[in-house]
Amino acid sequence: MTIVSAKEMLVKASQEKYAVGAFNITSVVQMVAVIEAAAERNAPVIVQTSVTPAKFLKPEVVVAVFRALAESVSIPVCLHLDHCTDVDFCKKCADLGYTNIMFDGSHLDFEENIKQTREVSDYCHAIGGITVEGELGTVSGVEDQIKVAADDAQLCDPEKSLEFMERSGIDLFGPAIGTAHGIYQTENPVIDFVRLGEIYQKLNTPEVRTPLVIHGGTGLSENTVKSLIENGGSKYNVSTNLKYILMDSTFDYMSGHLKEYDPGKLDKHVKMATKERIEYWIDLLGSAGKVI
Ligand SMILES: [Zn+2]
Repeated sequence: MTIVSAKEMLVKASQEKYAVGAFNITSVVQMVAVIEAAAERNAPVIVQTSVTPAKFLKPEVVVAVFRALAESVSIPVCLHLDHCTDVDFCKKCADLGYTNIMFDGSHLDFEENIKQTREVSDYCHAIGGITVEGELGTVSGVEDQIKVAADDAQLCDPEKSLEFMERSGIDLFGPAIGTAHGIYQTENPVIDFVRLGEIYQKLNTPEVRTPLVIHGGTGLSENTVKSLIENGGSKYNVSTNLKYILMDSTFDYMSGHLKEYDPGKLDKHVKMATKERIEYWIDLLGSAGKVI
């Protein structure tokens, strides 16, 4: 078992210019699929839950299942809480065994975002072995509790990023650069690669201090994904794509087996469909074979 903090994993990825897939799961079947696929590809991987599934499954259960699965593989794995706006729930998940916590204060003003993010950073660092992700600017779309219209999306200011990083104590940074949660409304979303590169330079020169996170990873072209990595993204979040795979593979199986009533076979079908997709992402992000 190699449970690590996300920062440890991502500094290496930043230096070697690949990204680690961070996959949002809502079920145990999906978690099994993510960890099995990553182990088969010899890739480091981040399992993440947003707040609603963490509460539905109970964070204690998520951590216990994660640890049991992590024990069965030798790749580095990390359990991340995604987009949490509640300082107390961040602390609770850190206490229970999540190894990376995202406090999302992007809806707050700059000073309040720093203050609340700092509280989470200090708490997690005092426990030890837990790293913290912060966000500045607004990633548009829908992510669990956070809903923002695309027009309201504010991109992240590179100067403010450095100040935010230094004052909030974060280990990973998710800048808003034009990517969106959910399904893109346009075929060619405008993504500010230059801004991403500038933020990367500001935070990570001369050495990698604060790896960058790409939110809204579903639905971008393969060239866009590669440019995001080239310009400094090293944690690549995939959520919507896995929701579609879960629902579509369930529907497909049920449609073809209306009288079967064997949930084990359905689970297996969903797991295989999910694994296939995770392997696609791992290969695209360049993280296959990156476990030494
Ligand atoms: Zn996100």
